[in-house]
Amino acid sequence: MSYEFIPRRQIQERGVRRVRYVRSLDKIATIPAEEREALKAVTNHYVFRANDYYLGLIDWSDPNDPIRRLIIPQIEELNDWGALDASNEQLVTVARGVQHKYDHTVLLLCNEVCGGYCRYCFRKRLFMDNNEEVANDVSKGLAYIADNPSVTNVLLTGGDPLLMSTRRIVDILDALRLIPHVRIIRIGSKIPAFNPWRIIDDPQLQDAFLRFSTPTRRIYLMAHFDHPRELTEHAVGAIDCALRSRLICVNQCPLIRGINDDPTVLAELFQQLSWIGCPPYYLFQGRPTVGNEPFAVPIVRGWKIFQEALRRGSGLARRARFVMSHATGKVEIMAVDDSNIFLRYHRAKDPADRGRFMVYKRNDDAFWLDQLEPADESDAPKFSQSSRLAVDEGPE
Ligand code: SF4
Repeated sequence: MSYEFIPRRQIQERGVRRVRYVRSLDKIATIPAEEREALKAVTNHYVFRANDYYLGLIDWSDPNDPIRRLIIPQIEELNDWGALDASNEQLVTVARGVQHKYDHTVLLLCNEVCGGYCRYCFRKRLFMDNNEEVANDVSKGLAYIADNPSVTNVLLTGGDPLLMSTRRIVDILDALRLIPHVRIIRIGSKIPAFNPWRIIDDPQLQDAFLRFSTPTRRIYLMAHFDHPRELTEHAVGAIDCALRSRLICVNQCPLIRGINDDPTVLAELFQQLSWIGCPPYYLFQGRPTVGNEPFAVPIVRGWKIFQEALRRGSGLARRARFVMSHATGKVEIMAVDDSNIFLRYHRAKDPADRGRFMVYKRNDDAFWLDQLEPADESDAPKFSQSSRLAVDEGPE
């Protein structure tokens, strides 16, 4: 892989590169006609969207190609599994498009479109008809944040915020920067993987990042790469542009069966991410969301893969935490032995749970916290109050 920085003048001369969106499987001739027909039962439930660039990363000769699994529907998505809102995000929704679960952090769901739709998405409900959880008008969210001085972190999410027009992004960043207590703005985006030119070819967007990501109040790009094959020279270029525009870049992704549930693949992903200045931050245990059965990895197996991947990496490639985004908080999977699974609240919705260390009986078939049994038959097993990790939680 080679990458060279592209000066603005060169971009102006060659013109802005635009990806072509593909919204129907019928446009993908490499999928046999009868398969496309059968998959309509899936796309009637869970919308499909990709683009020519991303589809070009697929090795069509491999039926198990990881990029194909990530973006092309499969019939197993119809298997009975999970809930539409597996982490009960509606419980922490304080206004349309505004989620407030942890003291310091507010989420603004400001866009309901993505550069492509990941088949394993835990927010696929947002892309369904009649969903009202996204607010294109963020004024209520901004007012809520302004009224809550404890909110130092704002995450722009959705959907993908970088799919919004540059004008809208600038307006939101501008408004957030007028709120003195907001220090960190995070942008959760898979655009560097789906359409790197959205960043590379937009000098106005880069200028906005330069303007609003300041030495004391940074903007973080929470990138979402799942597999090393997504780290093309163009994707690396998008991260380079973000870094040159003063963004701090980190990566978060779920552990997904058939895509990155292999220590070699995960180690490679973590290594390459650290090399390009976008080190791994969170590896998520997949939420038990409807449609996601073909992507689910049990907790214990996931932990082993994660540990093995860490062993193969070095330094900044090993900074990731393996967590479950549970309705009660972010639960870190810390260790597994012959009998138990050891967990800790990395972030907790209820202040009483902050830093709480928990021991559950080992269950190799469990995919989620709710399927585990406490080792001591209580919700606060084995470890006494005094052994609770006394941490003063900073921002997530
Ligand atoms: S980019 Fe994120 S929000 Fe969009 S489909 Fe993928 S996982 Fe879901």
